[in-house]
Amino acid sequence: MTAPESAPKSAPKSALGPPIGLLAELTHRCPLQCPYCSNPQELVRRGEELDTAAWIEVFRQARALGVLQLHLSGGEPGARSDLPALVGAARQLGLYSNLITAGVLLDEAALAALAARGLDHVQLSLQAAGAQTADSIGGFREGHARKLAFAAWVRAQGLPLTINVVLHRRNLDDLPALIDLALRLDAHRLELAHSQYYGWALRNRAALLPSRAQVERATALVERARRDLKDRLPIDYVTPDYYARRPKRCMDGWARRVIVVTPRGRALPCHAAETIPDLDFPNVRDSSLESIWRESEAFNRYRGTDWMREPCRSCEFRERDLGGCRCQAFALTGEAARADPVCDLSPDHAALQALAAEAAAADGPPYRYRRFA
Ligand code: SF4
Ligand code: SF4
Repeated sequence: MTAPESAPKSAPKSALGPPIGLLAELTHRCPLQCPYCSNPQELVRRGEELDTAAWIEVFRQARALGVLQLHLSGGEPGARSDLPALVGAARQLGLYSNLITAGVLLDEAALAALAARGLDHVQLSLQAAGAQTADSIGGFREGHARKLAFAAWVRAQGLPLTINVVLHRRNLDDLPALIDLALRLDAHRLELAHSQYYGWALRNRAALLPSRAQVERATALVERARRDLKDRLPIDYVTPDYYARRPKRCMDGWARRVIVVTPRGRALPCHAAETIPDLDFPNVRDSSLESIWRESEAFNRYRGTDWMREPCRSCEFRERDLGGCRCQAFALTGEAARADPVCDLSPDHAALQALAAEAAAADGPPYRYRRFA
């Protein structure tokens, strides 16, 4: 299980490759209020957002650095009136653009304008299979009906469509209906991801965490559906951390594949990284993306394996999972450099198991919906 203390160090910085993706969080504005939203609890206001020219400069620098995929996200990116200009700029720069949307703000003409400017792909979030449950989770009346109409417009434009659902105790038993709905909407892919507990989801953990039995039923059902539908609907399934024995290789490693830029221009190695309080994240208004990626202290702090303590430091799995998620380690232990407590080799694993069992056994308090303070 363990390797000698003279474990190989991480790759030298000169071997650092380029990021593949840029996640551009264009805005935190969104008409929905999902209780698991990954946006921070202190949302950025409209007046603080990067303007059109600043975003296009970020895209240009990202492309020069080697980025190929641009994910236009939020909040709800459709809240930005300059979205067509941003999509057009991405196309001119040779970036593959993916719109990650709740699908309730853009009408048919607005979507057609984005398609005309070169949008490549749409990822639409659903909260549940039925309108009543979906609208109560998202805190937005008639949102589900608008989403279904939006999905039809996406396909009518000939754009590929991914349906994305965050799973939790209120919608897990909806899975068969969700899979049917994705088929009816002619989706190209279905992404089912259990809620991860930071941001608003951490605040609502007691209301969201499913029981172990519920997760086991859902996982078996998804595995069956993946086999049965493998030629019709690829299904990605992100399993829940709190019932796992080993952590995931979070973001494929800290600052290895993706740069996230927040609405006010802070550059992060993952969308939850701002929850770690002692990291000073650089801003694209002050530094180039290249220097942020290669030289910034925040991007280098947890890169590779040099930062690890025991038990990760001498563990044979350290290159495989890179110690799991730094944000989760901080959220559960108050120290980002500890092993992810999801791991059963972590000294914090038993406390996590007890916490999960207690939260899942409770009735679950009402949601605290995300909103601007
Ligand atoms: S998770 Fe919900 S509230 Fe958060 S940005 Fe997406 S649709 Fe809006
Ligand atoms: S989290 Fe650390 S201790 Fe656990 S398997 Fe990964 S490297 Fe090993």
